[in-house]
Order: sequence, then C-alpha cells, then structure tokens
Amino acid sequence: MDFNFTEEQAMLREQISRFLADRYDFEQRRRAVASPEGWRPDIWQAFAGELGLLGAAFPESLGGYGGGPVETMIVMEEFGKALVVEPYLGTVVIGGGFLKHSGWPQAKDLVAKIISGEARIAFAHAEPQGCFDTRFVATTARRRGETYVLDGHKAVVIGAPWATHLIVTARTASAPGEAEGLSVFLVEKNAPGITTTDYPTVDGLRASEIRFDAVEVPTGCLLGEEGRALPLIEQVIDEATAAACAEAVGCMQKLHEGTLDYARERRQFGTPIGKFQALQHRMVDMFIALEQSVSMSYMATMMLGAPATERARAVSAAKAFISRSAKFVGQSAIQIHGGMGMTDELAIGHYFKRATMIEGLFGTADHHLRRYEALQAA
Ligand SMILES: Cc1cc2nc3c(=O)[nH]c(=O)nc-3n(C[C@H](O)[C@H](O)[C@H](O)COP(=O)(O)OP(=O)(O)OC[C@H]3O[C@@H](n4cnc5c(N)ncnc54)[C@H](O)[C@@H]3O)c2cc1C
Repeated sequence: MDFNFTEEQAMLREQISRFLADRYDFEQRRRAVASPEGWRPDIWQAFAGELGLLGAAFPESLGGYGGGPVETMIVMEEFGKALVVEPYLGTVVIGGGFLKHSGWPQAKDLVAKIISGEARIAFAHAEPQGCFDTRFVATTARRRGETYVLDGHKAVVIGAPWATHLIVTARTASAPGEAEGLSVFLVEKNAPGITTTDYPTVDGLRASEIRFDAVEVPTGCLLGEEGRALPLIEQVIDEATAAACAEAVGCMQKLHEGTLDYARERRQFGTPIGKFQALQHRMVDMFIALEQSVSMSYMATMMLGAPATERARAVSAAKAFISRSAKFVGQSAIQIHGGMGMTDELAIGHYFKRATMIEGLFGTADHHLRRYEALQAA
C-alpha cells in the first residue's frame, strides 16, 4: 500500500512545522498557558489567516480547501509536537465533523466563521456519571413550541472558556445509556441559562463544568435527526479519537527524541548515561512503541471512511494501542530523565502530562479493548 503523502500534504506539514518553530516555542507556550487567558488568540488568527489551516480539512462544498482525515492527522501530529493548546480538536475536528456530517442547512455559514477564526466550538458531551459511555447522556432537551429546552450538567468541556458555540448532546427521549433518543444541538455559549465554571487542566488546557438550566434553543439548531443522533455522535467521536491518536504520536516523537538527547548529554560515572545497556534497551522499546503507534494512527485515519463497524474497530484498536504506548513512552522518558523529568523547566514533563491526558481522552486503553471485543462479537 502506498503511504506516501502528496506534495500538498508534505507542504502543509512543512508549513505548520516552520510556523510553530518560529512562533510557538516552549517558552512562548509556557507564558501563554500561565496567562489569565490561557491561549493565544493571535496564533489562532494566524492559523486562520496566514496559514489557512482552519479550512484545510473541510470539503470545497463547505468553503474549505478539500482536505480530509489525512490533513487532520498531519495538523494534529504537528500540534502534538509543539503542545499546541488552541482549540483545533474541538472546533475543526469535532465542531466541523458535526457540521460536515449532519446535513444541517446553515452549516456553510458557520464553517465560514470557523475557517476565518471567528467561531470556536467546544463539545459538551461527557457527564459526571458517563465513564466514556457515549450513550450515557442524562441532559434533557424538551420540545416546547419552536424551541427545545435544555437541562443538565456537562463535565470537563475542553476549550469551553474560549468557545463561541457549544455542541451539546441531550436526550429528547429514553433513558441514559439507551441508544435511542439522543439528539445534538448547536448552542451559543452566552445563551441565557448557561453557567460555566472554568478551570485549567493538568496539561495546560482550559475546561469548564457547564450547567444548562432551562436553556432555550431554537428548533433550527438541531443537528441531524431528533432522537437518532447516536451514529452521528459515534462517527464524530471516532474521527476525534483518530485525531487524538495523531496528536499522541506527535507528543511521543518529542518524548523519544528528548530522551535520546538527554541520554547522550547527561554524564554519570564518567560516561553518558546512554552508554548503559539497560537504558539502551528501554530506548529501543520506546522507539518500537512509537513506530507501531505511527502505523496504528495511519491505519485509523485511513479507515475513517469505512462502514461504521469497521471504522469503530480500527479506531478502537489504534486508541487502545496508542494509549498504552503513550503511557509507556511517557513514563520511560520521565524515568530516564530522572528528577529532571519532573521539573517544570524541562519540556519533557509537559509532553508527559499531555500524553497522559490523551491516554484517557475519549476512552482509556481498557475501554477501547472492550469496545473492540464487543464489535468483533457483533
Ligand atoms: C493525602 C494525599 C497525599 C498525596 N500525596 C502525594 C504525593 O506524595 N505525591 C504526589 O505527587 N501527589 C500527592 N497527592 C496529590 C494527589 O495525587 C492528587 O491530588 C490527585 O492525583 C489528583 O486527583 P484529584 O482527584 O484530586 O483531582 P482530579 O479531579 O482527578 O483532577 C486532577 C487534575 O486533572 C484535571 N482533569 C480532570 N479530568 C480531566 C480531563 N478529562 N481532561 C483534562 N483535565 C482533567 C483537573 O482539572 C485537575 O487539574 C496527594 C494527595 C493527597 C490527598
């Protein structure tokens, strides 16, 4: 099979990599993360304007540049290498995913605002009792005339403090855990009845706990079919999971590279510690885990267009493998760095924190193994 990137895809990678090296080094990122805002709106505007990055993975029919999952994978890998905190995953991959697949009549207008950097989206889906179960949605949406009325609590909504819009999953029928009765809504973040509690996450991002208290949403903001949104939600979460796998690959590349550099540099007992066989073996294992993760990430990306069961199987296989690899590579990097790996000054600990959060994002290794097994049996 030909896994070569096209000339345009190679250029996209080169362009992002150069931009991030110039404008998004570790110190610049650290300052942004520590600032009250926690992100850099100027960088987001540069992604939109200078790089045209926010439109790369949208089809031309929606005003994008005609890319797809491979472009998303390239962006996410490069973002993983630079620990980008800006909300690309929530806005373009998840928000864009719902707009692309739901057939919503006003999608083109909102996509135009995403591409220009004006609109940013956060995905308000997980709930405190959910445990990665996509069907566990207790938030309700009751039809009242020309509106739906939303009530509920969404937990750890990543990127919500920076968002202009939320994509909210809610039940229009049935009980939490059931497949039927799920619906998806686009909600303006400042709609009356929404209360947010914002906080930083361990990996330098920002998130919110969001309460919906009789929030009125026009019926025109329903994305997809009322009560039948589970396949749409699963598709978009699979796409986001594949994107998170690519980001983890970017993180792991830097964890591996940084560890090799450190082991060559750090001397103990009169020799670089990289000369010790036990550490060499560990670094070889890290390299193997990284290379296999790259292949699993490509495989999941290539399978995003497959029928639902095959797609889900591929994504779960990749996420299970990459979650374990991220843990192994991250913990090994910390161990080989010794105490230095735990300090705030060194980038390695920051990559470890992000890799650790991705390990559990959209489901841990155990969750995805169970899902894979259930899909095999189906
Ligand atoms: C008695 C005691 C002794 C301790 N001893 C030690 C010690 O010796 N060494 C040590 O290192 N620590 C120690 N700790 C710290 C302890 O390990 C941490 O407090 C704990 O791991 C954090 O878990 P939590 O339940 O408090 O927070 P959590 O709610 O799990 O959250 C922890 C962080 O993760 C973020 N977060 C949660 N979920 C997500 C998500 N889905 N996405 C992104 N971000 C998320 C939160 O915003 C928060 O920043 C000790 C704590 C106690 C109480």
